[in-house]
Amino acid sequence: MIPTIEYIEKKFEEYNHLMFGGRLPKLPVVLSDAKTFLGQCVARATTLPNGLKKYSDFELRINTRVDYPEEIIEDTIIHEMIHYFIFYHNLHDTSAHGDIFISIMQSINANYGRKLSISHHATKEETEQAVSTKRTWHVVAVIYFKNGKVGVKVLPRVMPKIINFCEQLKGEKTISSISLYMTDDPFFNRFPTSVALRINYVEKDELTKNLANAQELIISNNQVINKPK
Ligand SMILES: [Zn+2]
Repeated sequence: MIPTIEYIEKKFEEYNHLMFGGRLPKLPVVLSDAKTFLGQCVARATTLPNGLKKYSDFELRINTRVDYPEEIIEDTIIHEMIHYFIFYHNLHDTSAHGDIFISIMQSINANYGRKLSISHHATKEETEQAVSTKRTWHVVAVIYFKNGKVGVKVLPRVMPKIINFCEQLKGEKTISSISLYMTDDPFFNRFPTSVALRINYVEKDELTKNLANAQELIISNNQVINKPK
């Protein structure tokens, strides 16, 4: 079926009451014929002084380019509503489909017999990231925190900067270890290259997968060298 705005608004209300405790305010619904996504929940992000983001001006976009089965359209609406729920409540997830997203999604699947997934429903951010598939060599620091979280930092390929970055983090009590890698996997294109101490949290499984072909580096005698096999 090709959904109409009325249909999407009706479904939104239904799922809002059924799955989200009726706590999501109505938002503008827009039909889209973009090739890159089935659904999108877009929002304006403002960065707060503490570095966290606050979201406003939400919009729900649903694709009408392709005639999908109704179930897929319903799942797309629910999927985007989870993004909206997370944005709206300023829950800071570990990534676009991070721990919070997955746990809400799994509970909806279990309680309402849905088949929601995290694929084919790119957020605006993901779509932009997907555009850059160029292979560029990156030096990547992987930071393991004592609380189990994992962070990624793409560093400039300048030896003193890499060494200095690692030195600075060494004394940090929340960190358990740091590993360095050289990789051209496009996954890392999404992260800004910098030495600022702001770390990008990632999902461990996703990171492991994307580091599969990376060369591990070590710092030895003030040099960054390949880790001996
Ligand atoms: Zn999504």
